[in-house]
Amino acid sequence: MKFDIITIFPEIFNAYLNESIIKRAINKKIIEAKVHNLRDFTADRHRTVDDYPYGGGPGMVMKPEPFFNAVETIKSDGIPRRTIMLSPQGKVFNQGMALSMSKETQDMILICGRYEAVDERVRENLVDEEISIGDYILTGGELPALVIIDTVARLIPGVLGDERSNEEESFTWGILDYPQYTRPPEFRGLMVPEVLLSGNHKDISNWRRKEALRRTILKRPDLIGRALLTDKDHKLVSEIKEEEG
Ligand code: SAM
Repeated sequence: MKFDIITIFPEIFNAYLNESIIKRAINKKIIEAKVHNLRDFTADRHRTVDDYPYGGGPGMVMKPEPFFNAVETIKSDGIPRRTIMLSPQGKVFNQGMALSMSKETQDMILICGRYEAVDERVRENLVDEEISIGDYILTGGELPALVIIDTVARLIPGVLGDERSNEEESFTWGILDYPQYTRPPEFRGLMVPEVLLSGNHKDISNWRRKEALRRTILKRPDLIGRALLTDKDHKLVSEIKEEEG
């Protein structure tokens, strides 16, 4: 899957894309990320990307021409791409959206806004979908673009070392992940739950399911109502509610 990113701050992407799992995915050619500097698509000497808003008001508005030039140039190879604009006004990104994107395998253009706004003609004519990463305002679309690349990439087979990581992650089954421990078994008198040291896989799996449900009930009760729970889960939920009073 290829991500073409349009930004006025290309350097922001270098550090993140050149580390860890994403770097490995790029080296293995499972994903490709190409960062385009919006200023390269301007036509004036000052490489201007913004101007004053019509009608007045605070801040600057990003000009339409560089975005049109950039998207048209990127698409000139004829490969179909979905154009996504990062925007606080978009659909709020979640794990389900990331999963569908990872399965679609369609390449993406990610448009990162800055300043007060992007000229509305960009959204109306170039953008297939607006995506927000949450109900708050960032200074630019670069972090949201990285959030999408990271979240989608790790769902593509071959990107993670062990594919089971995805299956057990929070949100995958509509509930949070279970608590994890590593060595030593005792640290300053703080013990690892005995069941995890027992070697009994069935007991461990039951304990994990119950604790995953417990933390979802305690930390994110809003998720429990929507999660796909089995009859056994419902029994566990009743037990937990009794235990937690
Ligand atoms: N005035 C705009 C509004 O209220 O919708 C916000 C502009 S914001 C300061 C500048 C850019 O940051 C946006 O164009 C968008 O690309 C990005 N951005 C800010 N918050 C975001 C969010 N929650 N999700 C996705 N992108 C965001």
